[in-house]
Amino acid sequence: MNSTNRHPYKADILVVDDTQENLSFLSSMLAQQGYDVRIAINGEMGLLAATTVVPDLILLDIMMPGIDGYEVCRRLKTAAETASVPIIFLSALSSSFDKVQAFTAGGVDYITKPFQVEEVLARIQNQLNLRAALQEVVKLNNALERRVEERTQQLEAAHMRLLEVALRDTLTGLPNRIFFLKHLQAALERAKTEAGYSFAVLFLDCDRFKIVNNSFGHPVGDKLLCDAARRLETCLEPQHSIARLGGDEFAILLSGIKSYTDAIAVAERLLQSFAQPFEVLGLDVFISASIGIVLSDRGYEQPEHMLRDADTAMYQAKAQGKDCYQIFEPAMHANAIQFFEIERDLRAAIAGNALEQFIVRYQPIVSLATGKIAGFEALVRWQHPTRGLVSPVEFIHVAEETSLIGPIGYWVLQESCRQLRAWQEGGFADASISVSVNLSARQFAQPNLIDKIDSILEKTHLSPKNLKLEITESAIMENPQTASTILKQLRARKIQLSIDDFGTGYSSLSYLHAFPVDTLKIDKSFVQRLDNNSKSLGLIPAMISIARTMKMDVVAEGIETPQQLALLRELDCDFSQGYLFAPPLEVDKAVDFMLVSPEW
Ligand code: C2E
Ligand code: MG
Ligand code: MG
Repeated sequence: MNSTNRHPYKADILVVDDTQENLSFLSSMLAQQGYDVRIAINGEMGLLAATTVVPDLILLDIMMPGIDGYEVCRRLKTAAETASVPIIFLSALSSSFDKVQAFTAGGVDYITKPFQVEEVLARIQNQLNLRAALQEVVKLNNALERRVEERTQQLEAAHMRLLEVALRDTLTGLPNRIFFLKHLQAALERAKTEAGYSFAVLFLDCDRFKIVNNSFGHPVGDKLLCDAARRLETCLEPQHSIARLGGDEFAILLSGIKSYTDAIAVAERLLQSFAQPFEVLGLDVFISASIGIVLSDRGYEQPEHMLRDADTAMYQAKAQGKDCYQIFEPAMHANAIQFFEIERDLRAAIAGNALEQFIVRYQPIVSLATGKIAGFEALVRWQHPTRGLVSPVEFIHVAEETSLIGPIGYWVLQESCRQLRAWQEGGFADASISVSVNLSARQFAQPNLIDKIDSILEKTHLSPKNLKLEITESAIMENPQTASTILKQLRARKIQLSIDDFGTGYSSLSYLHAFPVDTLKIDKSFVQRLDNNSKSLGLIPAMISIARTMKMDVVAEGIETPQQLALLRELDCDFSQGYLFAPPLEVDKAVDFMLVSPEW
């Protein structure tokens, strides 16, 4: 840095002149005024002096031997370090001084000889003041630029933080759905342009997460999700990426995957990573996952479509019994469409008050102690205008997911109560015969359930003692608090309660113990395994003994063979239901069954 900070009267002035007389006059006069003065006796020396130590101002003679003043000025103006030094030309009034050339060369002013002291000083001081002002402006400008740069950096950092929030899931720290879809879009484009590049998308949904979340509370659920996210990450390689889509759903992009075999290998690793329990509040909690897989070779244009198909396949994995993976097939898409058609037709049936499209069949439940009928299970069917008789397996889940189950479920309840009462009044059913009606988890969660049941019993005049309700374990576990209140209210009315499909879901027996339940229904899948190897009784003895300790009785479902019946009798099972006795029967056939009253 040169003398920019120097006070003007201490400014460094270079005088370039080949006339000794001028040099001594100017230098002594300027020195007297307090300036630092240096001198050069020709153009070359002037250039050297100016570039060695850059002066604050130069007084430059025009006519000199060698390089003349104009040329010296041009050179100084083109060199970066001296370009801003003000140059005042010195010229004899008589000489051929060319003002235009002087200013074009870059001079700022000129002084004519003979010199007048006041004029020389005034012109020099003017230029020094101008230069000082200019330097101040440059300084301010630099400071401003630095501040602008700082602000820009701060803004950029803020922008990055915002992006981070917009694209990241704050709970697990993983990328979110928006980020994943962008990433997926880029992968699809790459697959289009780069021959041989393909990838897979995995859609993963945690099974039973909702139960944990509702039973243990949301902070525990959050911790579980974070732990699960970390575990899933460890199964992936650096080129793969994982995002949390929301809730307990994750999406994984497997970059460079060529075949389903490779994608399946990763899916299996992911499933396996959940095999060990998660520690929650010092408890070991087991959850599993369902995964849908789709490969990029289906010519997808939109990332949303690829993710949708992976989701559909995941749904299929859930339907297959969870804790497994499924590869997307176009037929699944057809199933999804069928779902919407069923929903549409269910809505139409209910809206048109055409509940007459629904039918109840009654399947006998036999007491193994007496060999006589103990009751019926009411099972709904749908007489669809074009599809024919539709099984509940095909439409109940649609009704549950679309909350159409409410009206259907209450209609079945009312119809079954009315029917049993009619049989009692007709003298076909005695007071020991009950009717069991299935309640879906969705209905179970409805706040006016008890009022509805009360009003149906009142309307049909059926004694609450003759009514049993069947619910699944998960209906209780998904809403433990509500369940507890509802079950107590049911018990107060002497309505009985069965746990349906026992053993297929989330069996949390220690939990179940706290609820007033009368009956366990062992799922038919356990009974059907009895025949494969009648030596192995599977879990049935354990389930029966659990029921005994909890003072519940046991119904075995799906008895199809006399051998199964014999084994269950030996195991001291209380009741049985199955095709061996009768399939779900139409009303007339059910009456026949009671009249004939076969003994088993
Ligand atoms: P669930 O409550 O476990 O009913 C027993 C199912 O097993 C019935 O199927 C019955 O027909 C079948 N079954 C009975 N004996 C045998 C046998 O020996 N072998 C075999 N393989 N199967 C047998 P269905 O009627 O198709 O009903 C299926 C499911 O639909 C029911 O399972 C129940 O969960 C649901 N469901 C039926 N009606 C209703 C209803 O009114 N409301 C609700 N929420 N769900 C219902
Ligand atoms: Mg049932
Ligand atoms: Mg069942």
